[in-house]
Amino acid sequence: MTAKPRTLVTGGAGFLGSHLCDRLLAEGHEVVCADNLITGSADNIAHLLGRPDFRFLHQDVTEYLYLEGPLDYLLHFASPASPVDYLRLPIQTLKVGSIGTHKALGLAKAKGARFLLASTSEVYGDPQVHPQPEAYWGHVNPVGPRGVYDEAKRFAEALSMAYHRAHGVATRIVRIFNTYGPRMRPHDGRVVSNFCIQALAGTPLTVYGDGSQTRSFCYVADTVEGILRVLLSDEVDPVNIGNPTEFTIAGLVATLEKVLGRALPVTYAPLPQDDPRVRQPDIARAQTLLGWRPQVDLETGLRETLAYFQGRAAG
Ligand code: UDP
Repeated sequence: MTAKPRTLVTGGAGFLGSHLCDRLLAEGHEVVCADNLITGSADNIAHLLGRPDFRFLHQDVTEYLYLEGPLDYLLHFASPASPVDYLRLPIQTLKVGSIGTHKALGLAKAKGARFLLASTSEVYGDPQVHPQPEAYWGHVNPVGPRGVYDEAKRFAEALSMAYHRAHGVATRIVRIFNTYGPRMRPHDGRVVSNFCIQALAGTPLTVYGDGSQTRSFCYVADTVEGILRVLLSDEVDPVNIGNPTEFTIAGLVATLEKVLGRALPVTYAPLPQDDPRVRQPDIARAQTLLGWRPQVDLETGLRETLAYFQGRAAG
């Protein structure tokens, strides 16, 4: 390894990717960020441009991925990740999970870099085991609208393991559960961003279905800490990173009401096809192996997120 580790983050201008770039720079890495900006945003990395230890490559990682010089770590985060995005960009989603992962693994192999795949709780689909441990193989509809994301990530996991077994690449797989916080795209369609924007605008919160479906929301700083711990660990098998505190969507509305100190009107819309009924990570592996568990509760995290969206609206 070079004196200053050199790290490539694909999707580095995205929500999670940009927080990772910040954290890696703070840890003393030299960071190269590659992003085609189809769902990422230059705003997320604007504060880093011009730093000598940061470089931005405007690049589609499904077409080409090459870098001069040494590389110690490659974090593959490029992908549409919000349901509305991967429904809007189904082929790009499949391509970045398959061809993009192939290119990223090829680069990691050529450079002798450690590779970390951003996988997802979506590999569990609409789960029949609750909460979901890593040993659960999942319940995914390959031909449903969410299949483009779920299967791309499942393929990416399989390819990572194949590069590990066949080529000896040091691979890590993080299964990331719902994460929220500053730099979520205001209109990425996710429940936390939608509800924050709607609450701030004084419009009704759009609850899909009857609001009894569950999710477990992890604040971005906790997720980033978990990802780095997996990266630096020896764990080749997948590790769940997410907050185990489970909320119904109705419970999320109630928490937001508590944070804002007022009642929020709600409007109901149909549940999207194949929308998982429940989701909650079993984080025993992360806890035991990495000593990691989330620190930020939903109320605190929502305050930070609301402040971010408020700042954007004012700016
Ligand atoms: N959802 C909702 N209202 C919205 C957006 C999403 O009720 O405005 C629901 C959605 O149907 C799902 C949950 O919130 O059950 C989480 O959706 P999200 O898009 O954030 O991500 P997912 O966990 O489904 O990938």
